[in-house]
Amino acid sequence: MAIPAQFIDELIARCDIADVVADYVPLSRKGGSLWGCCPFHSERTPSFHVVPERQMYKCFGCGKGGGVINFIMEIENLSYPDAVRFLAKRAGLTVPEEQGDGRFRRKRERLLALNREAARYFHSVLRSPAGQAGVEYLFGKRRLSKSTVTRFGLGMSPEGWDNLLTTMTAMGFEKSELLEAGLVVNNKEGRMYDRFRNRVMFPIIDLRGDVIGFGGRVLDDSTPKYLNSPDTPVFNKGRNLFALNIAKKSRLGRIILTEGYMDTLSLHQAGFDCAVASLGTALTGDHAQLLARYTKEVVIAYDGDGAGVSAAQRAIGLLEKTGMKVRVLRMKGAKDPDEFIKTYGPEAFAKLLDQSENHIEYRIDQVKGKYDLTDDAQRVEFLKESVPILAQLPSPAEREIYGARCAEMAGVSAEVVAQEVKRERSRRSWKEKKQQERRDLTPAVQRQPKERALRYDNLHSAGAEEGVLRLVMLDPELFGGAALLEPEDFSSPLLGRVFGLLRARWTNGLTVSLNALSGELESAEMNHLSGILTKPESLQNGDQAMRDYIEIIKTEAEKRRLEGASDELLAIQKKMLEKKAYGG
Ligand SMILES: [Zn+2]
Repeated sequence: MAIPAQFIDELIARCDIADVVADYVPLSRKGGSLWGCCPFHSERTPSFHVVPERQMYKCFGCGKGGGVINFIMEIENLSYPDAVRFLAKRAGLTVPEEQGDGRFRRKRERLLALNREAARYFHSVLRSPAGQAGVEYLFGKRRLSKSTVTRFGLGMSPEGWDNLLTTMTAMGFEKSELLEAGLVVNNKEGRMYDRFRNRVMFPIIDLRGDVIGFGGRVLDDSTPKYLNSPDTPVFNKGRNLFALNIAKKSRLGRIILTEGYMDTLSLHQAGFDCAVASLGTALTGDHAQLLARYTKEVVIAYDGDGAGVSAAQRAIGLLEKTGMKVRVLRMKGAKDPDEFIKTYGPEAFAKLLDQSENHIEYRIDQVKGKYDLTDDAQRVEFLKESVPILAQLPSPAEREIYGARCAEMAGVSAEVVAQEVKRERSRRSWKEKKQQERRDLTPAVQRQPKERALRYDNLHSAGAEEGVLRLVMLDPELFGGAALLEPEDFSSPLLGRVFGLLRARWTNGLTVSLNALSGELESAEMNHLSGILTKPESLQNGDQAMRDYIEIIKTEAEKRRLEGASDELLAIQKKMLEKKAYGG
């Protein structure tokens, strides 16, 4: 982190978390704190909690939490330095850049400039004689309009090995920069050549309008049919979606998720400016969260083939987790949205969109497809598999409607299905109750961090370690009483590291707050810590509490050292025995 710590301190002091969050989330006051509906997952009852005294936020629904810088990183999808710059601008401050960071920023700017110039170059090729094949493909075969091609900045990479390389280096870009941007590739002999050759080019533009990468499609039958930029310092496939920069402004009230560039382009051309595509990868959890920031409803419009169906099923799971309403579009008479619109027109697609099934219908239909419902035994199997899906539905009306539909398919009465669903639900709630009881009996499990990598090895000690952090955060003067405590004494590496970082800040006269650590902690770590810090802790008898915590931590650390020592002794003994055996 190369932005001076003093500056971060000043920034945090000037950016009140309640003010900043209020720009995004309506908050209402309850008791000493503020509550609102979480912007990171979709919900109707507020579980997003802002604590102005601690300058922190925490969502009790999805677990996200941290300080004001994290909040901006999350909600604006920015890196730490960019979030600092964002807040600085808001507060009317200028970020004093130190060399290291300035270099990083300049590099990023260079790569973005390079991508922008490359996109311009590809677009210019399309308008030149060398772009004839691309013109035929985009305008002829795909029937894209001039305005669509211009709006999305489509282009063409010409045939040949070094057209882009030569043009960009002539403009002053370094070969190493082209390599870093993923625009060229090194062959085995170390010679560089253009990654994209003889392809139509789709620039990938991020939410801020920067070109961050490219997708390229072949014009002949060569493979791979689609080629994307690799992940680079400015591009991450798993966190960006094609056309989201446009779809986020759509007024259609939902987002249509497609499998490819062409589907998305053809939807936009037909007036559905809410279409996006994942970039040659399956949908990720990050994608789903990104979408949840811009819409409450996603319509999945994947291909109708086997691969499309299983990709859709996977996507349903990820999207549902964020609380969004998920629907699945089913095209009849066309393999993908592009073909559908070309064959039947935008009105027919709009109708299809309104009729799109919610994911329950879709899943039941998938189950139905597996069985021959003229066969008695298979009808039973069909019901067995459908009942758990029905039982998941929270609304009784939905259970009745879809239950009746399943009953009809299986040729049984609606009452029979309703009874089975009821039984399944009571079995389920009994199971949940048992699970809850088991959890209550072993509260240790609840105290474990959600993230597996952060799990505590020693819960007893970790509990005290959490307490120490809470205390010094409330009153940094308590560091004075913790003079003998060292980060190495902590059983949890994360808590030890945070203790060390905070103490260093205190020693240097800087603020002791979670906020100040935004640049040094991963978001999962930050989420976990914000949870620890929202737990109650009293400063009454703070000194005594500190002494008690330290006692526990020291005792447990000593035990670990003794165990470690005995392991070492054992190892030495073993070595000596081995030596003897070999007569050494
Ligand atoms: Zn949340």
